[in-house]
Amino acid sequence: MRRLVPAGLCAAAVLSGYGWAAPSPEASRAVGLPWQGRLVAGVELPASGERFFTWDFVRRRSPNRAWRRHGTTRLVRTLVEVIGEYAAAHPGAPRLGIGDLSRPDGGRFGAELGPPGHASHQNGLDADVYYPRKDGRERPPARPRQIDRGLAQDLLDRFVAAGASNVFVGPNTGLSGPPAVVEVLPSHHDNHMHVRLPGDGVASAEIGTSMLGQSIRAFRLGRGSARVLVIGCVHGDECAGSIVATRLLHARPPGSGSIWVVPDLNPDGHAAKRRTNARGVDLNRNFPGTWRGLPVSGEAPASELETRLAMRLIRRLRPELTIWFHQPQALVRATGPSVAIARRFARLARMRFRELPRPPGSATEWQHRALPGTRAFVVELPPGVLHIREAGRYSRAVLGLAG
Ligand SMILES: [Zn+2]
Ligand SMILES: [Zn+2]
Repeated sequence: MRRLVPAGLCAAAVLSGYGWAAPSPEASRAVGLPWQGRLVAGVELPASGERFFTWDFVRRRSPNRAWRRHGTTRLVRTLVEVIGEYAAAHPGAPRLGIGDLSRPDGGRFGAELGPPGHASHQNGLDADVYYPRKDGRERPPARPRQIDRGLAQDLLDRFVAAGASNVFVGPNTGLSGPPAVVEVLPSHHDNHMHVRLPGDGVASAEIGTSMLGQSIRAFRLGRGSARVLVIGCVHGDECAGSIVATRLLHARPPGSGSIWVVPDLNPDGHAAKRRTNARGVDLNRNFPGTWRGLPVSGEAPASELETRLAMRLIRRLRPELTIWFHQPQALVRATGPSVAIARRFARLARMRFRELPRPPGSATEWQHRALPGTRAFVVELPPGVLHIREAGRYSRAVLGLAG
């Protein structure tokens, strides 16, 4: 257990408690969104290195053309660092293949520049990395059975640990990871993983792991004291909010103060598509203060690892406001001192508001008691999946409260 930081310490001390690698200011800039944006002062990934080669998927040869391999300084550095660590861990492994990044100034990278083209790869934050082949040949695997799954999973884990906001993999690869980060896409990703970094100035750290050992990560937008903390998912079958959280990682940070984002507090439940954590406990009935011995609320208050992780983070940050995303009631709910700010969120997000009591053992109830003066409320998104392009409305509402 890491040392708890006493209340009132500055944000820098809180950050150092988690061993953050805060991004340094860079000349390069990712503008807009990965699917609608551009790149300023992008840097070129070298054509090859000791540990990697680049691959031109359109011409089916190495190296890739220079204009297809530009990214932000941070993306290029992250690729080189992760690949270096991977190579050091597997000295006999073949060099890794890197495909397209972005164009020198970013912008559209569609099929007109060579099929199949990319919907994203527009602002220097995306990179395609080919899975290592069992036979060690320096070219993309033609079929999923040619993938060295052990090496590919290790590589994927390293990109997650490096703070990727998303990793897209193919359905026949057998690869997995925290479900808010690692997503299986139906097409095109059986020969490469698509790695996406958060926007400029977003720092990230692992705040712990779930019961089953999945990484639970937090991201910080902006600097200074925590204005808003967003928890994207706590009930594993109500995780549309993790899409809102991921969408926030590409928003412009607030001018003062910081927004903190935990896309997924319950990766085990999320992966299994069930409400509880891996031990069958409803995390939002497990918090102390008003805990009651219900069948799903755990053996004792804060008996669960994930509950304690959330409590530790909230105690350290002392956020002015915590927003917990759930589904499927399509309304914002709050009571007591949090009603006013929850109503404001509802207006900004164009949602209904209902004044409703907090359940026993809930996170919002605990925060109101443990950190009086702070606010916490619940956003119940509508049922079903939420596309990241539709998540902008909710992400803007969060930013509206932080601004
Ligand atoms: Zn891609
Ligand atoms: Zn819920």
